[in-house]
Amino acid sequence: MLFPLTYIENHDIEKVHQLLEHFFCQLQTATVWDKSLFPNWYHPVFDKGLLFQERVFRHIFDRVQNEFPMGTLFDDENQKNRQQLYQDVLNSNKIEDICNDTGLEVANFKKMTDKDTLFRIIMKKKETTDRKAEQKIVYENCLIELWETLTAEVLISKNLSLQNIKCHYQVFCKHNGDVCVMCGMEKLPLPNSVGRANYDHYLDKVGYSISCVNPHNLIPIGGQCNTYVKGSKNMIIDEEGARCYAFYPYAASYENLIFSLDCSKEPSTYDGGDWTMSITPEKSSDIVEKKIQTWNRVFKIIDRYLEYIKINSNRLIKELINSNGDIINELQRLKDFVTRNIQFEIECVPKKMFYEYYLANPQTIQKLVIVSKEGNINHVIVPHLE
Ligand SMILES: [Zn+2]
Repeated sequence: MLFPLTYIENHDIEKVHQLLEHFFCQLQTATVWDKSLFPNWYHPVFDKGLLFQERVFRHIFDRVQNEFPMGTLFDDENQKNRQQLYQDVLNSNKIEDICNDTGLEVANFKKMTDKDTLFRIIMKKKETTDRKAEQKIVYENCLIELWETLTAEVLISKNLSLQNIKCHYQVFCKHNGDVCVMCGMEKLPLPNSVGRANYDHYLDKVGYSISCVNPHNLIPIGGQCNTYVKGSKNMIIDEEGARCYAFYPYAASYENLIFSLDCSKEPSTYDGGDWTMSITPEKSSDIVEKKIQTWNRVFKIIDRYLEYIKINSNRLIKELINSNGDIINELQRLKDFVTRNIQFEIECVPKKMFYEYYLANPQTIQKLVIVSKEGNINHVIVPHLE
């Protein structure tokens, strides 16, 4: 991750998640379906008749009543199970702790079985018949419907005068700029004239649906990162199934990273050369190194930067030659970009790495410079090379 994001405090998009937590809290003791299951601000909606969210909450309420009835001989045990359910919901939403502590267990709906309480409560069993007339049991995750509630502005349509997710995105961009925090290679869309960014479910919504409307788990990122690169990859479990560390995008502090490039085959006019690179923490830290591994595994950072350099090495050299410039000023300018603050310019990390490598190893790409300089022979590119 390239810089820390500012979390937008006290925005109305938090309300859908508040609804969920309040509901599970009340469910610890509730025996009757009524508006006390919901926070006060939601009561006018309840009085008008629930629409979209009803299916979700009613399903969960009925399942809990059925699985853990109150007013029976098993009250104590059922009460404990209901309390555990609420605890599981709270624990699944400690996104920052989950990223920083691999010892924390998190409910993952892709791995649950019929025996898991949460799974039984959340998933709806649907029996379907396929073309071969075989009966199949299919589970449907009812919580994902809540995500629709957030994006489809269902609450707003209930005259609650809530700020919508588009408004959240406008405020987000004001505080965090418009460069994708995960790759720095793409811009987020302009909020007014284009539309809102992809909101990445950092912990994916199918596996970790209990946090699917938690704004701490929703990160506006670029469309390439979200759709083509990350897809449904798991941030906290690697391909071998091991629990892993991850950067928390809204963390209060950020460890600076060092990006460095090496060349294994010189680039020429026709070939971008072969490159390798490393990303390391500025202050030595095993945990930050592991977070970098996760970031690279999910967002293919190293592959993308190296491919960019391979494709663009000729262009970058030409840009320098045409920039009237001297490379020292250019390099300083590029270094200023990488402040890891919101003043972050697109593509600056691979560019900066390339120019730094060039300054340190001018001979390696000298051929490229000589070819590019034709017609501009008096221009000084690197003083000590002339
Ligand atoms: Zn991106």
